[in-house]
Amino acid sequence: MSYLPKFTLFACCVGLLSCAQTPGTGQSAAASTAHTAANNAGSAPLTTGTATQQAPLSDADFAACIDRFSRDAINAGISEQVIRTSLQRATLNRRVLELDRQQPEFTTTFADYFNRRVTAQRVAQGRALWAAHRPLLDRIEQAYGIPAPYLLAFWGLETNFGSYFGNIPVMDSLATLACDTRRSGFFTIELMNALRIVEQGDIAPKKMVGSWAGAMGNFQFMPSAYLKNAVDFDGDNKRDLWHSKPDAMASAAHFLRNLGWVSAERWGREVKLPRNFPFLEAGLKNHKSIAEWRNLGVTRADNTPLPPVDIQASLLVPAGHEGPAFLVYENFNVIMRWNRSEFYALAVGQLADQIAGGAPLVQAPPTDAPRLHRQQVIQLQEALGQKGFYHEKADGIFGPATRRALSEFQHQQGLIADGFPSRTLLAMLGVLSD
Ligand code: CA
Repeated sequence: MSYLPKFTLFACCVGLLSCAQTPGTGQSAAASTAHTAANNAGSAPLTTGTATQQAPLSDADFAACIDRFSRDAINAGISEQVIRTSLQRATLNRRVLELDRQQPEFTTTFADYFNRRVTAQRVAQGRALWAAHRPLLDRIEQAYGIPAPYLLAFWGLETNFGSYFGNIPVMDSLATLACDTRRSGFFTIELMNALRIVEQGDIAPKKMVGSWAGAMGNFQFMPSAYLKNAVDFDGDNKRDLWHSKPDAMASAAHFLRNLGWVSAERWGREVKLPRNFPFLEAGLKNHKSIAEWRNLGVTRADNTPLPPVDIQASLLVPAGHEGPAFLVYENFNVIMRWNRSEFYALAVGQLADQIAGGAPLVQAPPTDAPRLHRQQVIQLQEALGQKGFYHEKADGIFGPATRRALSEFQHQQGLIADGFPSRTLLAMLGVLSD
C-alpha cells in the first residue's frame, strides 16, 4: 500500500523483492504489503543472506527513545497505565535488528517458491479445516463475501493454518525497529497503533506476540491493519486474532473486502498459450478483455475455451515460456494489496482452487531454472542498460522493470520474449552463471 516504505527485505516474508522464507522460522509468507512492514514487489523473491552495515542502536539510545515515545504516546491519548505496563517494559531485541538488516542474496525461482507452499499436504489440511469449520466459514462468506477456500489459502500461507504465529513480544520488536534509524517512521506508527490495541483491551500485552517485524496472529496482521480490519466474530467483545478462529478468519475476510475483493469473480486461472504467442503481451500492467485473450489463442489449461465473461485480465508467465501461464483478474490485484508479490498471489490462488477441489497445475514450472545472485542481477541490469533496454538503477533486484527490459531485448533478438533469465540468455548478455 502507498504508505508503506520501500526496502529490500521482507519482514516476515515480504520484502521488496517478494516473499521469501521467513528468516528464522522456515515459514512462508507471513507478512505483507498491506498488513506488514516488509514488502516486496517483484516476482523473483530473494532468500536472505548478508547483512548491511549500519550504526548499532545502543541500550542508552533505546532507553532515551522509549522515554521520548512515552511522552508522544501520552499526547496521543494513550493512558499512563498502558504505557507503564507495555511500552516501558519493552526491551531492545538485537536479533530483530539483525534480521532487519539482512539483505536478500539470491533470487528464488517460481518452482522453488510455489512447490514449497502449495503442497498436497497443505491442500489436504485446508480441505479438512474447511470441513471442520464449515458453518463458521459459511457465515463469514455471507457477511463479507469471501469464499472459504481463499481464507484457508491465506491462513495456510501466512501461518501454516495457525501453527506458527511468531513468539516475539510485539512491543519488543516494534519498539526496537521504531527506535532504530533504518525504518523508524513506519515502525513508530505501528508501535503507536500497537499501544492503541492494548488500550482497547483486546489482548493482554504479554500475550501480544508476533513475527520479528510485529505481524500478529493467524493472518499476521500489522497493528495498523488490526485497528482498521479486526472484528469480534465470536461475540465476546474482544478482537482476538491469536486464539479465536472466528475473530481471526472474519477479520481476514473483512480486510479482503476492504481491499476490494470482487465476490462474483475468481482470482484468475491457469491457461494454455498457442505456439507463437506474442509474449510481449504478458505482464500485470497489460490488461485485455477475456475476448481479446481468446482471440490471441489463449484457452483454459485443459484446452477448453475461456468463459464468455466481460472482464479485464492480465497474463503472467512467472517461470518463462516453459512454465505455466496464468490469466489473472481483479482479485489477483486484491491479493497483491495484501502482499505485493506475484508469486505469493499465484500461490494463494492455486492453493484456494485446489482446496476447493481443483487439480494441480497442468504445466508444472521447470525446477532447473537458475537462481541468480544479487551480483548477477546487477550484471544483467548493467548489460541491458548498455544496450538501451534498462533505464533504472542497477539495484540487483529482479523486478518488473528488469523483466520488461529482458523481454524487449529478447524481442529484438527474435527470441521468445518471455522476460525469463534462462542460462542461454544470461550467457548472451555476458552474465557469469554458476
Ligand atoms: Ca472475539
